[in-house]
Amino acid sequence: MKNVSMLIGGQAVAAPSTFPVINPATGEAFAQVAAGNASHVDAAVAAARKAFPAWSRTADSERKAMLHGLGAALEAHMPELMELVTLETGKPLNGLNGVGAGMEVGGSIAWTHVTADLELPVEVLQDNAEARVEVHRKPLGVVGSITPWNWPLMIAIWHVIPALRAGNTVVIKPSELTPVATARFVELANAILPPGVLNLVTGAAGSDVGPSMASHPGIDKIVFTGSTITGKKIMASAAGNLKRLTLELGGNDAGIVLPDVDPKAVAAKLFGVTFHNNGQTCACLKRLYVHESIYEELCAELAKIAQATVVGDGLQPETQLGPVQNAMQLEKVEAIAADARARGGRFLCGGKRRPGPGYFYEPTIVADLAEGSRLVDEEPFGPILPIIKYADIDEVIARANNSPNGLGGSIWSSDPARAAALGLRLECGTVWINEHGAVQPDAPFGGVKQSGIGVEFGQHGLVEYTSIQTLKIMKA
Ligand code: NAP
Repeated sequence: MKNVSMLIGGQAVAAPSTFPVINPATGEAFAQVAAGNASHVDAAVAAARKAFPAWSRTADSERKAMLHGLGAALEAHMPELMELVTLETGKPLNGLNGVGAGMEVGGSIAWTHVTADLELPVEVLQDNAEARVEVHRKPLGVVGSITPWNWPLMIAIWHVIPALRAGNTVVIKPSELTPVATARFVELANAILPPGVLNLVTGAAGSDVGPSMASHPGIDKIVFTGSTITGKKIMASAAGNLKRLTLELGGNDAGIVLPDVDPKAVAAKLFGVTFHNNGQTCACLKRLYVHESIYEELCAELAKIAQATVVGDGLQPETQLGPVQNAMQLEKVEAIAADARARGGRFLCGGKRRPGPGYFYEPTIVADLAEGSRLVDEEPFGPILPIIKYADIDEVIARANNSPNGLGGSIWSSDPARAAALGLRLECGTVWINEHGAVQPDAPFGGVKQSGIGVEFGQHGLVEYTSIQTLKIMKA
């Protein structure tokens, strides 16, 4: 059994009690983690505040070098981190189309290096005989990071590295379901960073750790990735000291397949962007709209791929899809499938749990559903996809946009220019053409409507960890 402590002010900190972390492939605990509470948040915020003045004034080149060092440390521990990610998330080591723990750790390394190389140059707005006006980007202070269970390490990196790069100090709270790889990352980082720059507080289910961070007067910004419902609670709690917020929330992304697509050629790609990580990715394709002229053919192709997919323990190298991450999520998927059945959904494959230990659910594809069913209207966050028939392009764009969410969307066509013009009519933060969910460290990513506030990645993401200070120097 692995034991995981908190890390505050550079010191490992235990708690009076611990909570178990379950391997979703077996249903058994593999780690015991310190059950922190609001008093640990207070201590972590105090450590981060103490470290902030020196860290924010550290030479830019030194901060950059330390972050590259962190990227190298992640790389040196890649196999260990991959195993921890697989054990706690169930995600396969390799995974469907290469989307697995290897990609999570590899992505974490890439994001760290790319973000370390970003700059925050001084902008000169005026420089004449009268005055010089400069715009400086200043760190905000202490950033609180709250992460979910689907991509725990990568999302921790997405939060922590730009926050540190801009000169902030950080307190991170991982999901109680998946704190282990994040704790190891924080440990590795603390061998490089000065004490107090990056602190970890872990809390059991229902603990006051997350809520006390959201309302803490010593935290200047919360970066949160998780469900829309929790995002709203955090926004309300953050009002006390007008915290800055980046909220990356739920998505129910539509993909629209135009009639000029060859179903056979596109099916494997569509299956991958929908089912990787068992659909437990915010920007997975979650509603597939297919033109009536190719509907049956594409349904059949997708069902064939689903039936051939290797589902199993993620530690086995051939596994493409692992278990659903937790029992509650599995029950949600089952309830959504039952609703689809009750509304006349045609199950092309799957539709049930796999017997035996672990939280396994067969990849499931449901045809002949429309809006008004839970599977179409809600984010299932599991291995189940509705395929919805449409006839008219204006009508289908309106249907895709008729959602409180707006994270991503995609158009699939053999005419990319036409698809791009249609894609720009989608109400979402990112549009992909003949692709879905592919993010990269230099392109902004975020949601509109109830999918979030702000963006992450690249220069646009980095400035969200800063405030503007205008400097006006009179010359005359
Ligand atoms: P969640 O239930 O909202 O939990 C996310 C985090 O918030 C966890 O660390 C959780 O702690 C914490 N938390 C819960 N209640 C809190 C409160 N009142 N105040 C402060 N923190 C609180 O989300 P999840 O189920 O882990 O993640 C799945 C969701 O994340 C999906 O909707 C998915 O679409 C979304 N997501 C979005 C993106 C994006 O970039 N837009 C990326 C990935 C995931 P505990 O675990 O301890 O309860």
